[in-house]
Amino acid sequence: MQFTKKAIEHIEACRFCWMCHHVCPIGNATGLERNTARARALGLSLVAREATALESDIVDNLYECALCGGCMTDCVTGWDPVMFTKEARLGAALEGNMPEYVGKLIDNIEATGNIYGEKEIPEILKSAIRDLPPKADVLFFIGKDGAYRTADKSAAAVDLLKRAGVDLTVHKYEPDSGYALDFLIGAAEETRSAMAKTAEILNETGASTIVCYDPADAKVFLREYKEYGIDIKANVVTFTSFIAGLIKDGRLDVKKSDTAFTPQETPLLARDLEETESVRAILNSLGSIKEMLLHGKDTVLAGNLIMNEYIPSVMKAVAERRMENAKNVGAKVIVTVSPAEYRSLSDNNDTDIEIITLEEAVLRCL
Ligand code: SF4
Ligand code: SF4
Repeated sequence: MQFTKKAIEHIEACRFCWMCHHVCPIGNATGLERNTARARALGLSLVAREATALESDIVDNLYECALCGGCMTDCVTGWDPVMFTKEARLGAALEGNMPEYVGKLIDNIEATGNIYGEKEIPEILKSAIRDLPPKADVLFFIGKDGAYRTADKSAAAVDLLKRAGVDLTVHKYEPDSGYALDFLIGAAEETRSAMAKTAEILNETGASTIVCYDPADAKVFLREYKEYGIDIKANVVTFTSFIAGLIKDGRLDVKKSDTAFTPQETPLLARDLEETESVRAILNSLGSIKEMLLHGKDTVLAGNLIMNEYIPSVMKAVAERRMENAKNVGAKVIVTVSPAEYRSLSDNNDTDIEIITLEEAVLRCL
């Protein structure tokens, strides 16, 4: 494949460098050198030199990266493995060399709007949104992981917003943000046109604010949509920043407890969106904070449900390692801010640490 000049420059910089290998959540979980930015760059440098084709093992290796940006954040010289990995995924898709397991997820998105192939949202969420008005000032965007993998938590988030008196609606046929497509095939025409269609639907709602429950959706709305020239008219905010605002304005009257909360912030929030303060402001108003050693912009990925569809054992190891980090600092209650990380940690928790979502933490302190 033909890489852009920029990608080649970054591939060449990374291919002999070992400096960030210790931060990769996948490499640390598998113990394999292939799961480092350097090894990926080495493989892609061979593709760029036409010494090997962009297929089979080289392509599988691309999909073993969580695009979490840990390496990039650790890189003192500012090189970007996420960028060249995404570009190579797009190249593989354009050349028809996409792995079968990726093709299956894309087929599911085309058929149902989500990677899981689910057609109906669970009843618990349906009943939480049933009485909401069709139009409101605030559109609560739940996202696919929240709808299909943590529906009870999404329902609790809706309940919290209702209790704050927010003029709220949820789209009856919520479109896909395009996050999964962007993760799987990058800036393909398919991704851009799906995003453009979603923007059109969201703009038709007339909402002035879109609150994204899942940082993954906020990330694409605020970053990729802008990059691809797709306009969302409403003000897009994260659920965490919105809740922090409701507490600050006294619309959610929370009581401080004696609980020490340990935040688990997804890299999507802390690194891609550079938002680290809201969750801490919220948790400080609910109790105290016991941080993990690597937190804030240095946070470690705890789960990715897209990858869980094709390498579940690796994702299990990723979650278990993060639980080990929490155990090492004496955490008692982990608070997650992403449906994927909640699902991954709670499905792989064999400790006595409690795992709750942000809305559950707030609801407990009302
Ligand atoms: S991202 Fe930076 S530290 Fe990591 S391999 Fe590339 S050049 Fe080295
Ligand atoms: S983006 Fe994340 S998963 Fe991918 S190589 Fe870098 S640290 Fe590892």
